[in-house]
Amino acid sequence: MLEVERGFGHVIIERVWEPGGPSFGSYEIDANGIPTITLAKDDLTEANLAHELMHLKLILQGYPRIEWRVSDSRFTTQEIANELHELLATIRDPIEHFIFHATIAAMGIMPDPEDVGVLTRYVYDKSRPKEGSGGSISMFFSLTLSVQDSALRRQLLASYERKGLRAEALTGKAMALQVRRMHPKTPKDEVDCFSACLNIYWARKRTATLLSQSSERRGNIARKVATLMVKFY
Ligand SMILES: [Zn+2]
Repeated sequence: MLEVERGFGHVIIERVWEPGGPSFGSYEIDANGIPTITLAKDDLTEANLAHELMHLKLILQGYPRIEWRVSDSRFTTQEIANELHELLATIRDPIEHFIFHATIAAMGIMPDPEDVGVLTRYVYDKSRPKEGSGGSISMFFSLTLSVQDSALRRQLLASYERKGLRAEALTGKAMALQVRRMHPKTPKDEVDCFSACLNIYWARKRTATLLSQSSERRGNIARKVATLMVKFY
């Protein structure tokens, strides 16, 4: 924690969400480079704090904020912008988690212990609202990337097959394999890996390529920014 605070040149502001707020945690950096970590009130755990600290640490190591450009002005709609923004949480975050899981484990903390419960609820909770095809893919992707237990992973696949979502499961699995194969270790690796996963996810209907890289001053730090170009076919 001290190491991250030294990096930002500022103490980390810690907040707590009341029950009913978002689950687990989140991090942000304001315009003055002041980092904030917010944790769910019923999940004030060392694992949850370590997780958000690791996201902040990656920023200090030059892992970029992602900005989107679309190749065609017909697609500069709020709906597309929201959809692209959502992919940072559903596809980019799981890649970051893969990058820092080993570091958290080396600190003697089990990384993301809640994911086993998320998977179990996902398989057995019948009242769960149905998500779209993209949501099914990214859920399969993030859970197979995070949960090591192969019996649970088989149950997840079986539940997708029961629901007629075999194609979604296979796409999610291909994305997780891509991350394991590329094994990202640097900011550039992460952007390459994110683009590669998006290209599998979009199955040739869209593609993502790195357009440019820059950085923005946020208080004591220069935060890296990678701009991805999305093409529609
Ligand atoms: Zn995270």
